[in-house]
Amino acid sequence: MRSNLAARDVETLVHPYTNLAAFRETGPLVLERGHGVYVYDTDGRPYIEGMAGLWCTALGYSNEELVEAASEQLSRLPFTHLFSGRSHDPAIELAETLKELMPVPTSKVFFTSSGSEANDTQVKLLWYMNNALGRAAKKKIISHVKGYHGVTVATASMTGLPANHADWDLPLPGFLHAPCPHHYRGAEPGESEAAFSARLAGELDALILREGPETVAAFFVEPVMGAGGAIVPPAGYFEAIQPVLERHDVRLVADEVICGFGRLGTWFGSESLGIRPHTLSFAKAVTSGYLPLGGVSIDEPLYRAMLAESAKIGTFGHGTTYSGHPVACAVALKTIEIFRRDRIVEGVGAKAPHFQARLSGLADHPLVGEARGIGLIGGLEIVADKGSKRQYDPKAGVAARCVAFAQAEGLIVRFLAGDRIAICPPLVITSEEIDALFDRLTRALDRTLAWIA
Ligand code: PLP
Repeated sequence: MRSNLAARDVETLVHPYTNLAAFRETGPLVLERGHGVYVYDTDGRPYIEGMAGLWCTALGYSNEELVEAASEQLSRLPFTHLFSGRSHDPAIELAETLKELMPVPTSKVFFTSSGSEANDTQVKLLWYMNNALGRAAKKKIISHVKGYHGVTVATASMTGLPANHADWDLPLPGFLHAPCPHHYRGAEPGESEAAFSARLAGELDALILREGPETVAAFFVEPVMGAGGAIVPPAGYFEAIQPVLERHDVRLVADEVICGFGRLGTWFGSESLGIRPHTLSFAKAVTSGYLPLGGVSIDEPLYRAMLAESAKIGTFGHGTTYSGHPVACAVALKTIEIFRRDRIVEGVGAKAPHFQARLSGLADHPLVGEARGIGLIGGLEIVADKGSKRQYDPKAGVAARCVAFAQAEGLIVRFLAGDRIAICPPLVITSEEIDALFDRLTRALDRTLAWIA
């Protein structure tokens, strides 16, 4: 049954975010099982999962308590929904637990099955709210160039990456992009992080004024920009932009899909970076990636507007079959219980200095222009010339090559557009495993350098 998996894959599957033509030559990496921070391919080769899957498997790969929580719920009530007022205890308990944890005033929680659906829901709720408030023009959405918010028609419009727009007929009208807060690439020579932040806040102000504040509903931000390059915004950035948004009555939405649940050493990234959003989106680590679940926090003013609209129309016309899936909710509850009991968030704080020191050490490598991160997330930018920050021709695929060498060294990391490499291991990684991760990555960089020469 398991023979020829690679060949069968090529003939049957379409892979997300894959160069479909090149893939026909390279084929897949077929993984079979996982344990701790390791995953194993079908030949039994171990890899350190340096990306926690897709930024999600916070508790690692063999957590029996999560398996038991899923199994128990599957046996008891594998499915019921939340439509038309139907309910179940895992969803109620999870919503209560999340309300306690949220770093923002939260009246209610709405569940989805993914980060894309969570952000898509945010957009729709903003439109719904502004209609309820009689502000029919206030609908435009701003996000960052290089921001990542998902792949639905609305969220791919918010995403600020070329591959999500080119030939997809996106972004939709009404979706605007503010400059990327990446100091290494965006700052003028000699411009401090604080000055860069102030300049970007000025540019955001100008954008809102140009569009008309009465037409702009919200600004979506990731605390650390993940898929755009594991980019940590410069010092003072959120402090600088928040007064601008307040002045123009533009709501701030934090996309905590990656940073939520401990990644930066606080429960939510907003707490680490001084972000005071109106609402936030979460997904991924809420179940440690074991089952699909996402959602949004809803503040009281938004909830009141939703009440008014649904009373007028006769129903709240939004939701998917799996919104608040009971098995996913049960796994999320167990995930949070383990986080609290094992002090996972505090553990990230304790491990982060070592992780960040090893990351910063890579800045000395001839190929690395920038090595930057926070908590247990980091990004590297590969450059051809450190002084001028000149990059290799994208067609050379240098970061992709480095990621392939890392895989040969037994490490999974992810290359991102702009010759960047992301590192985002499970939060349960040990100090020794952090060393093994960076030793393997260093060898991969050395092999890349030798390959270029
Ligand atoms: N928002 C952020 C910050 C993400 O990183 C992602 C996915 O990586 C999403 C939204 C979309 O989530 P999903 O892939 O679950 O739809």
